[in-house]
Amino acid sequence: MISTGSYLSEKFQIVGKQETPRKTQFATKSHLSPHPSEHLSPTQISLDDGGNINTGLRIYTDGSKTEKGVGAAFCVLTDVNITHRWSTRLSLRNTVFQAEILALLKAVEHAVSLPTQQLTILVDNQASINSAANPKSHNSIARKIFKLLHSHPHIRVSWIKAHAGYIGNEEADRLAKEAAETENFPETPLELPKSFIKTFLRQKMLATWQMAWDDGDTGRLIHNIIPKVSLDSINWTRNEVLFFTGHEPFPSFLQRFNLAETSFCSCGGIGTPIHYATVCLLTTSYHMAPPSQQHQPIWFRRVANNSTSRRKIHNLLHFLQRETSLFRPDPN
Ligand SMILES: [Zn+2]
Repeated sequence: MISTGSYLSEKFQIVGKQETPRKTQFATKSHLSPHPSEHLSPTQISLDDGGNINTGLRIYTDGSKTEKGVGAAFCVLTDVNITHRWSTRLSLRNTVFQAEILALLKAVEHAVSLPTQQLTILVDNQASINSAANPKSHNSIARKIFKLLHSHPHIRVSWIKAHAGYIGNEEADRLAKEAAETENFPETPLELPKSFIKTFLRQKMLATWQMAWDDGDTGRLIHNIIPKVSLDSINWTRNEVLFFTGHEPFPSFLQRFNLAETSFCSCGGIGTPIHYATVCLLTTSYHMAPPSQQHQPIWFRRVANNSTSRRKIHNLLHFLQRETSLFRPDPN
């Protein structure tokens, strides 16, 4: 009766969580079953096609998302006549799942308001049925549905195959589409989906970071190589960081921070990263083609994006660190 993979088929394997320590001393088979109050009865929810259900009141729900909008709807079928219709429009940022689950909530609320009678809600979307049957769903609307169903066990929910010609399902589908596509249709404000909020906040954060990065006055050498901020790791080794930031062991850096007398290399040139990587007489085996003055920024970017160049830089830094004294001018 219940297809595998759904929350429903797994619920009987969930261990009840409200045992007292005294009870667990006498653990029995029953402790492996869920607490009956935490779950809906298996007869209340069905993932089989309810298309052949033709007794009692039937309520059909549907959600729809088109290029123009998002809509949710339900309709009530008494015998063969549609006796009640409801539909609403949602924000374009809402998902079709949010529309489906809202339609189910509205259908359940409508069912609760009616005199107790045989009643089935038919939903063509298994995901919303599974959410509604899960007391711990992350979706607040799904948890509302669960509570209502739990306290009104006469209200049954069944899956129904979509677009199979069932009039109630066709009508709910039509109503949801109509609401989705009609501008100025009464709208239901619904919180935006988590996925949207996450993306939105990430973009905001990156934009703020980018502004600070562009306007800042530290890390300018790195800004040249990585002008665009990103959450992806750049995977630089320590040596590469030292090279691209122009930090230790370069005399040009040490002198700037009064850690060395001079920014000169022993060869007579200025001890910058580019000096050692391209022209210094002491590091010829690590040389790369030098940039012209105005092309320095491009040169750094090219080096940073080329694995052979990066390997050379790694080895160069090793060499510089091992032979530090060689590169400092003799004070005498
Ligand atoms: Zn030199």
